[in-house]
Amino acid sequence: MRMKIAVYIHIPYCKSKCIYCDFLSSPNLAVSPAEYLRALEQELALRSHELREAGVMADTVYIGGGTPTVLSAAELSALLSACRTHLPLASGTEWTVEVNPGTIDLPKAAVLRAGGVNRISLGVQDTCDDRLALLGRTHTFAQARQAFSLCKKFFNAVSVDVMLGLPGQKVADSAKTVRELCAWQPDHLSLYGLKVEAGTRLDALLEQGAATLPAEEEALAMMQQGREILVAHGFNHYELANFAKPGHQCRHNLSYWENRPYLGLGLGAHSYWQSSRYCNTADLPLYQNSLLAGMLPPATIHVVQKREEMEDTMMLGLRLTGGVSFKEFQRRFRLDLRTLFAAEIQGLREKGLIECDAETIRLSKRGLPLANLVFAEFITGSP
Ligand code: SF4
Repeated sequence: MRMKIAVYIHIPYCKSKCIYCDFLSSPNLAVSPAEYLRALEQELALRSHELREAGVMADTVYIGGGTPTVLSAAELSALLSACRTHLPLASGTEWTVEVNPGTIDLPKAAVLRAGGVNRISLGVQDTCDDRLALLGRTHTFAQARQAFSLCKKFFNAVSVDVMLGLPGQKVADSAKTVRELCAWQPDHLSLYGLKVEAGTRLDALLEQGAATLPAEEEALAMMQQGREILVAHGFNHYELANFAKPGHQCRHNLSYWENRPYLGLGLGAHSYWQSSRYCNTADLPLYQNSLLAGMLPPATIHVVQKREEMEDTMMLGLRLTGGVSFKEFQRRFRLDLRTLFAAEIQGLREKGLIECDAETIRLSKRGLPLANLVFAEFITGSP
């Protein structure tokens, strides 16, 4: 059987910059989308050669950003056709595109579906227009609802992104948001706690005292209540921040959490491929010029040693509520994780943060909100 890989494609354009965002995205890039897509197609062509030589097929393709749907319908069509031309594709490939409300319309939805897209990840974030405006989102809740209805008509699966712990938000507000979104009946929902990233506008506003965030206990209560509402509505809580109706787990993101190889194409995209982690340059002219000269863009490379791979496998796998399978770990590394991490496991079990049965190790209910503490225990070894 041929090896399968997840492919991520980065589109760095956005309508404007949200105040909390530190992703590699901008509304003001020096290179036009048409020129960027030309360079990206060249990268696809070069990478496809490597994939074919290694006998690897793409099992999932995830087009994210940025906001891929700021591209025109014609550009989206060209992008999908470049992917289909160059990537060796497995049958039943999961094709996800990230969409923001206000950037999708009927012609774009039709082009995406015709290009094989079968899953949409829609950035709704909140139901309150004032908070959406404060966050720098360029859409209202009504526009988010319209976008969702349109996507539901065109695609097999629609996921919505929701953020909690927002400035001025109370537990009752976040619960109302989650309940309202459950009523839409999405197939999948991602529930993220707002993180303050250094250098963002949000960071500056908090520093100046111009915005305040809920207290930590309040933010934790929002997550806890959000989880309970989603589970009560029939969602399976399968990863720290992710909930799916049966059969709708995100296969692409499962590759990351299972620490399997993936290939990232586009500006600043990350890859984990042939035991190394790569990160493409974030310098757009350099990215473009390298590819137009027929070379892959410069990238930082980090060779992953076996010990590091095992630690990553624990850290990422424990994000999944199903945890890490002893048998699978043994099959992959020819080692028993219970022996390898005996001291860490014992300490975490004594604190009640993890639990084990005969087959798996996973976070306990108590360990869920303290997941980062648990992960840190597994990444203390030498790289
Ligand atoms: S839409 Fe997404 S990628 Fe674009 S600025 Fe907002 S959070 Fe960042």
